[in-house]
Amino acid sequence: MKNIDAIIVGQGISGTILSAEFLKNGKTCVVIDNETEHTSSKVSGGVYNPIVFKRIVKSWMVDDLLPIVNDCYKYIEDCCQQKFHIKRRIIKVFVNDEEKELWLRKTNDSSLEAYLDKEIQNHNFDNSIKPHHGLAYVNHAGSIYTRELLSAWCNYLKLNGSYENATFNYNDIEFTGQQIKWKDYVANYLIFCEGYAANKNPFFPNLPFVPAKGEVLTVNIKHLNCGQDVLNKGVFILPQNDNTFKVGATYVWDKINSDTTPEALSELSKKLEKVLQTEFKVIGQEAGIRPSTKDRRPLVGRSKQHANLLILNGMGTKAVLLAPYFSKQLFEHIYFKKNIHPEANINRFY
Ligand SMILES: Cc1cc2nc3c(=O)[nH]c(=O)nc-3n(C[C@H](O)[C@H](O)[C@H](O)COP(=O)(O)OP(=O)(O)OC[C@H]3O[C@@H](n4cnc5c(N)ncnc54)[C@H](O)[C@@H]3O)c2cc1C
Repeated sequence: MKNIDAIIVGQGISGTILSAEFLKNGKTCVVIDNETEHTSSKVSGGVYNPIVFKRIVKSWMVDDLLPIVNDCYKYIEDCCQQKFHIKRRIIKVFVNDEEKELWLRKTNDSSLEAYLDKEIQNHNFDNSIKPHHGLAYVNHAGSIYTRELLSAWCNYLKLNGSYENATFNYNDIEFTGQQIKWKDYVANYLIFCEGYAANKNPFFPNLPFVPAKGEVLTVNIKHLNCGQDVLNKGVFILPQNDNTFKVGATYVWDKINSDTTPEALSELSKKLEKVLQTEFKVIGQEAGIRPSTKDRRPLVGRSKQHANLLILNGMGTKAVLLAPYFSKQLFEHIYFKKNIHPEANINRFY
């Protein structure tokens, strides 16, 4: 038997970051993952944006989240000796004059000063885009190469003897006094980070998951030189390597599966045509299912029936920004009895 601090189910962004929080603090854990090829975390653009473009307001809690984002990904990069976190600006290309006017009004709001660039530009990146209504920059954004990070962290966990490739079955748990037994492991805590699959978790019933399917394209664009910055006009265009960009994403709330569709290909291609005035070629398409929730807030907390069963989920469209903060908060809740943010705590539904 191996005695450890925690069993973590799922190695998406949530399980990865939570396990990093455990290891960073000198705790032991095992992460169980069934290595599904197309998960939300693997296909994710990995972009974080401090601004909600619809109303040009700050993303929920962003001032508190950003410092933790930096520390968290730096720790994982140091462990894996690989870079995943790229700080970028987002180039907001305005769709119409109303959007531009709203932006200009919002630049007078001092709480947004750090994020919104005041200057409206007409840069067309060597005739590769059509900024008919101008564009402006968002500062303090960035992205994570999520697929690469998950793969490197999986190898790091394996080297530490902290990883099991298996499908976790709820019936395999044994409660032994204050502890939990799963196969050869005995742990003080078991934490579920299963993404949208948690909507069938019998230990956390009735949580209001609203899974949202999303698709992204990988495209080759010959003449778009926006440096490391992300272009946004209805879709994000995220630079990868060698003229390759990730383009996304779609949102579908019925037909929840990870099959790619001609509808998404057409939707994203049309949006791309509206931004670009240079040729592009689609070289890849992927789909995943976001663990979104009814109130668009994470699902973090402890089971009412079994105090050593916990959950970290519901990251919706913003796992890259939210998971570091709420992993830390869950860890501090377990070991230092700190409160979980009431808007994220699952107690709001029980
Ligand atoms: C197309 C698309 C684009 C996106 N773009 C962004 C973006 O730019 N920025 C951003 O922040 N977010 C983005 N998101 C959202 C983000 O990807 C999700 O919020 C995030 O991936 C959720 O991570 P998770 O770890 O909670 O769940 P998941 O990624 O679903 O991970 C759960 C893991 O648990 C495993 N698992 C589940 N059940 C079991 C079991 N019984 N046994 C063993 N293993 C199990 C799964 O195989 C998986 O590896 C995007 C999502 C999609 C689909």
